[in-house]
Amino acid sequence: MARSETVKHLLSYDDTYPCPVCRFGQLSNITLTEAFGCNTCRHIFITSSRQNQLKIADREPAMTWRWNGQTWRGEHIGDLELSWVYWLAALALISFPPGLVGLTALIFPSPGGGMALFPIIWTGITFAAHLSIVLWLLTEAYQFPVWVYLKARWQRLFQLG
Ligand SMILES: [Zn+2]
Repeated sequence: MARSETVKHLLSYDDTYPCPVCRFGQLSNITLTEAFGCNTCRHIFITSSRQNQLKIADREPAMTWRWNGQTWRGEHIGDLELSWVYWLAALALISFPPGLVGLTALIFPSPGGGMALFPIIWTGITFAAHLSIVLWLLTEAYQFPVWVYLKARWQRLFQLG
């Protein structure tokens, strides 16, 4: 018999839960199965042998969440906590290269004419490129299904409109 504090965390087929993928759908049990389905993004989840865990069944790589009684905690995230060192590194990665490009343009002004805009454009491109690297690393680190989320959001918008 499980201890009392784990019992309240156990998933019940009679309850509905917020969807961990699209974050506004409701998960409810699919009749006669051990699976849950979302009424918004239509993803199917199966409960694993440890009953407070939920695993997405129709997506690769498979992702697992644990229900803590209030919210889903991504098992794939583990103990990954982004410390300030990572944020500082990310900030440096985003701001340093475009800063360098911009600074170079200030120190060595272009002769003007058609080339005058070039350093500004180049600074912008450098900034966007490094920002996208950092955003990509963040989504990889948290395994956040960006496209699934955006798709569900778009469908929701479409349904309401
Ligand atoms: Zn959903």
